[in-house]
Amino acid sequence: MAGAVSPRVLRALIALGAAAVLALWWHSTPAVSGPGGWLTGAGEILGLLAGYAVVVLVLLMARIRPVERGVGADRLARWHAAGGRYVIGLISGHAIAITWGYAVTAHTSPASETATLLTTYPDVAMATAAWFLLLGVGVVSARAARRRLRYETWYYLHFYTYLAIALAFSHQLAVGAAFSGDPAARFWWSALYAVAALLVLWYRVVVPARDFARHGFRVAGVRTEAETTVSIYIRGRHLRELEAEPGQFFRWRFLTRELWWGSHPYSLSAAPGDDLMRITVRDVGDHSAALRRLKPGTRVIAEGPFGAFIPMRTSRSVLLLAGGVGITPLRAMFATLSGKVTLIYRASTWQDIVFQAELDAIAEARGSSVHYVVGSRSDFGTDPLSAAGLRHLVPGVHKMDVYLCGPPGMTGTAVAALTEAGVPRRRIRYESFEF
Ligand SMILES: Cc1cc2nc3c(=O)[nH]c(=O)nc-3n(C[C@H](O)[C@H](O)[C@H](O)COP(=O)(O)OP(=O)(O)OC[C@H]3O[C@@H](n4cnc5c(N)ncnc54)[C@H](O)[C@@H]3O)c2cc1C
Repeated sequence: MAGAVSPRVLRALIALGAAAVLALWWHSTPAVSGPGGWLTGAGEILGLLAGYAVVVLVLLMARIRPVERGVGADRLARWHAAGGRYVIGLISGHAIAITWGYAVTAHTSPASETATLLTTYPDVAMATAAWFLLLGVGVVSARAARRRLRYETWYYLHFYTYLAIALAFSHQLAVGAAFSGDPAARFWWSALYAVAALLVLWYRVVVPARDFARHGFRVAGVRTEAETTVSIYIRGRHLRELEAEPGQFFRWRFLTRELWWGSHPYSLSAAPGDDLMRITVRDVGDHSAALRRLKPGTRVIAEGPFGAFIPMRTSRSVLLLAGGVGITPLRAMFATLSGKVTLIYRASTWQDIVFQAELDAIAEARGSSVHYVVGSRSDFGTDPLSAAGLRHLVPGVHKMDVYLCGPPGMTGTAVAALTEAGVPRRRIRYESFEF
């Protein structure tokens, strides 16, 4: 994929950075002696790794286009969440080991060493405040707590991590043994943080503002697709320059009094044209419900395209498997994929089905097939998307590339059924509508 960083390359780059951090400690530590020295050394290593890892975490969420395109926003979000837990562990280990190490070397107690550090070094006091802030963010991000919070509350609380990083930065250079006598190390460490800050600013602020000015996105119209689902048409200039592909999504910020402060991800539900894009949204909460009331002419900031859920470009036949509103990216792919394409569209009721006329017309024009699998499991008496059900609906499914988009529960069961039906895991791609 041109202009895309693959997951393997990204993992290798992250590991290389971690190795450079360990080399920095090795280079700055001539000898380690006694239990106090070993504890302090362990604390320094943990601290350096934590200082590096927070930069990695920020960059994973910086919306760097080649990374988003190659790795996928949902996978980046998963790595970020998992990495966040490690970082909190690293920072806590660093604080405990280094205080304890200093205490052992100074023949004093960890409590009195803590008091000395906090009262003698203001940078350490600020870093301690940062540690507590990060612990707070970690607690609200834990699954159980997050389920009780509104998405927006959780999202905006997350911004305290930037404050925590700023608060902790100075103590690294002021008291970090790896930096105190080494101006080059100080320069490169500061450069790492400065580049990360610039990338965040560039991709999260400058690029969306530039695209807004260049393309002049505005709502062209709203169409009701079903009782709970609407399509929004967005007009703009030179849209092909965005190089958006079917399967990808944008983060949309509609500039009305009610909606300007939040940007939400929605996939393109049709291949983008030169001056028109379409998204299709199911009403599940405040934002999605309000889109029904958008007026033509409303200005829009469209940030993207994002996502690695794009066709693999092989010569194999393709199965598209959609559940509910997961039809949106697959509808866009269905109209553009070449070769033999089969679409299975799973929904609980016929009222939930959207685009039926469009899908039938595409199937007829391209010689593809659509299967609407509608009803609850109890209506069928069995799971129609079990391995046997899939083999029955789509003979030769094991030889196909599969693209899957649906609610998280369905995705898990469908991946298991497809694997059981003989589709290798590497040929199943899926998009999750949840970060
Ligand atoms: C990559 C991707 C593509 C998507 N494509 C579509 C689509 O084509 N059509 C469609 O109907 N839905 C799509 N969604 C889901 C859609 O983004 C959410 O349903 C919508 O943001 C809900 O916001 P709300 O205020 O209406 O509901 P809320 O009740 O506030 O949120 C419901 C759930 O939506 C998620 N969510 C809320 N706000 C955001 C946000 N700003 N960013 C990320 N997730 C959020 C959270 O998991 C939350 O628990 C997509 C989601 C993702 C991640």
